[in-house]
Amino acid sequence: MFYLNFDTFEIVDIILASLIAIAFSFLCIKKIHNKTAVFTFLILITSLVVSSFFPKLKATNNILLAIFIIFSTICFFINISSFRNITNIFSRNKKHHIDKKPDEITDDEKYKIIDEAIRILSKTKTGALLTFEKNNDLTEYMKNGSIINSPLSIEIIQTIFYPGTRLHDGAIIIRGNIIVAASVYYTPTTRALTGKYGSRHRAALGFSEETDAVTIVVSEETGRISIAYKGKLEPVPQDQFLEIFKNYMQK
Ligand code: ATP
Ligand code: MG
Repeated sequence: MFYLNFDTFEIVDIILASLIAIAFSFLCIKKIHNKTAVFTFLILITSLVVSSFFPKLKATNNILLAIFIIFSTICFFINISSFRNITNIFSRNKKHHIDKKPDEITDDEKYKIIDEAIRILSKTKTGALLTFEKNNDLTEYMKNGSIINSPLSIEIIQTIFYPGTRLHDGAIIIRGNIIVAASVYYTPTTRALTGKYGSRHRAALGFSEETDAVTIVVSEETGRISIAYKGKLEPVPQDQFLEIFKNYMQK
């Protein structure tokens, strides 16, 4: 390259710049997928670094810089942001087993999913009812809800209870590592309750009087977490939730 005289550099420069511009135009015509966006982004950065060692390739340097600015702005404003994808790639380990099949989730992972989901629901004051089947078969109760047979994951639990969605009212019933049903209604307890408890808590308690299932309640009003089991409703501090919940599941 260093034997080239200035004119040859100019020609190489123009050809390179044109090729880059054509390649970018083709990329714009094609629908850009998330992976393509990240890939393009990395190629652009590498090309920019390499071309900066050849200051004589002015047109190439300028066109690369222009494309880089345009591309990152487009990616940022349209929701296929490369930044987001790059963060996704690096935070992949933080994904909560949504990619795992139910039979691949270990007990420890299952408890972690539940603990984190409950922490988020409580922090965001999202009302929720989650029932875990133990020895009593809950199939009959599921029938008044919607059968969803979905894998257990933090994202899915959050999505189900997101206010306003079709399945957010009522309870979900979990059998093993599967959310079998959502939007299930229980017969509320008729007992007088001390404290400010409404129909969600009454439903959880009512269900715990009929079966040996463990039901977690998250209050929409206060974010408070409670566990209903065999006719008792126990408020549980968030930092002790997992330990207490495990205890109920193993009783
Ligand atoms: P929170 O502390 O979240 O306000 P709460 O005990 O005060 O709970 P409500 O405010 O009456 O109870 O909560 C109403 C919600 O509880 C309903 O929208 C529904 O999602 C759920 N719910 C009410 N009754 C039942 C039931 N019988 N079975 C299952 N879920 C119920
Ligand atoms: Mg209420």
